[in-house]
Amino acid sequence: MSNTPNLYDVVVAGGGPSGIGAAIAASRAGSRVALIERWPVLGGMGTVALVNNFCPAHFDGERFIIGGIFGELRQRLIARKAIYTYQPLATTNPIIEPYNPDVFAEEVVAMCCEAGVDVMLNTKIATVTFERAQPATIALAGGLTLTARVVVDATGDALIAHRAGVPSTFGKEGTHDVMPLTFCYMLGQIDLQAAKAGLPESVRYDKGTGEEFYYFSGWHPVVDQWVKQAREDGSLSIPRDHISAILSVPGKPQFATVNFGRVTIADPTDPAQLTAAEAEGRRQIEEGIRFFRKHIPGLANVELVQAARQIGVRETRQIIGLYTLTAEDVLSGRQFDDVIAQCCYPIDIHEPGKDTTIMKRLPRGTHYDIPWRCLIPRSGPDNLIVAGRSVSATSDAMSSFRVSPSVMAIGEAAGVTAARAVECHCAIRDVNPADVQHRLNATGAILM
Ligand SMILES: Cc1cc2nc3c(=O)[nH]c(=O)nc-3n(C[C@H](O)[C@H](O)[C@H](O)COP(=O)(O)OP(=O)(O)OC[C@H]3O[C@@H](n4cnc5c(N)ncnc54)[C@H](O)[C@@H]3O)c2cc1C
Repeated sequence: MSNTPNLYDVVVAGGGPSGIGAAIAASRAGSRVALIERWPVLGGMGTVALVNNFCPAHFDGERFIIGGIFGELRQRLIARKAIYTYQPLATTNPIIEPYNPDVFAEEVVAMCCEAGVDVMLNTKIATVTFERAQPATIALAGGLTLTARVVVDATGDALIAHRAGVPSTFGKEGTHDVMPLTFCYMLGQIDLQAAKAGLPESVRYDKGTGEEFYYFSGWHPVVDQWVKQAREDGSLSIPRDHISAILSVPGKPQFATVNFGRVTIADPTDPAQLTAAEAEGRRQIEEGIRFFRKHIPGLANVELVQAARQIGVRETRQIIGLYTLTAEDVLSGRQFDDVIAQCCYPIDIHEPGKDTTIMKRLPRGTHYDIPWRCLIPRSGPDNLIVAGRSVSATSDAMSSFRVSPSVMAIGEAAGVTAARAVECHCAIRDVNPADVQHRLNATGAILM
């Protein structure tokens, strides 16, 4: 290792779930690692967009299929009473697991620091320059320059890969439409007693925290009817046929984060379109709260507590890698020799320009594999690997593994691969996936 202070073995661009997994894994595997995030907190969409829950990619109805760094984080959240967990034998349990976003942010920073990662928040990557057989040069907004033997692109948008000439697709095959965006927010205070009286199934009890909490998610025959009527009488214009989620925040159950909005734009990587989407998203927040106050038991007096730092972006680019995962792979529960992560979350497509969502579930007790080749660009710099929602997949397949448990597992594998490339002085694509699997298995990941 060089003594140059700004030379890293691995620089991870983006501190969302995949970047966190990548940075911790690479550092634990012996690399000198920097994790760079433009926001003041780690967590990506999970914290900055207030999407603070784990969708059930990790539990197939019978057993946990994602462990590793994600499993450790989940245990730390349990220890801090900062997550409402799925209880396999309980009759009323959360299928998705809401967590406290502030505790999440604290814990992931702690995990990074314990692993020896240099966490650089409030730091935006301006450009990355790759030169053959040389470390990449990373220019940060503000003037500082880092160099890295390997770069992990965990920006969600495959921004670095795209600029480095890695081929990619954008949105749905043929139309290039991307799933709509949602501006999430926190509201409070919920009257849990009134909620219980008017809509009993919206209040649950979590044994781990000892808290009663608000949990409304997905389709509901009565509430969907209220949504329909409000849209017909003109008081609700949000193009959505149901409320996706209103979920208490563990530790303060009278406060809940809301996923009920939908803004379709052509290109979420275009700042002008994103700015317009944020404005429309804020308008939908006001409208959503008015609807809740009028219709939803227990929410009569709620107010906006906090809008997310940014509107949530579901989909942009997918790199073209050595393998492209398809919807057929997902739904057939396909297994691969070079598996580096597993997932059992359904195909979950928020339909662009429509009010509907397509859900295609896997049978209980089954999952599919995500192969290592999806992380490896088909062409481009030798020392670049991609993690997170933008790995190589069709739009429909991505709609399944994009959720935070599975992207964290993908990130972990990207970090292990990056560290291995540094160790072997080889190109990313020349790393032996069996070595990556060996390391993942030895450190608690679940690959079977
Ligand atoms: C509205 C919405 C609802 C969702 N609901 C759920 C849910 O209920 N449960 C669930 O598990 N998942 C959910 N998801 C999916 C999940 O949150 C994301 O797919 C996941 O966070 C993607 O992780 P990632 O690490 O690939 O990217 P991201 O989470 O997008 O993280 C990328 C990070 O890179 C940073 N970055 C980008 N460019 C730069 C740069 N130039 N310099 C420095 N930093 C940069 C960004 O600031 C960001 O923090 C939802 C997503 C959205 C948008």
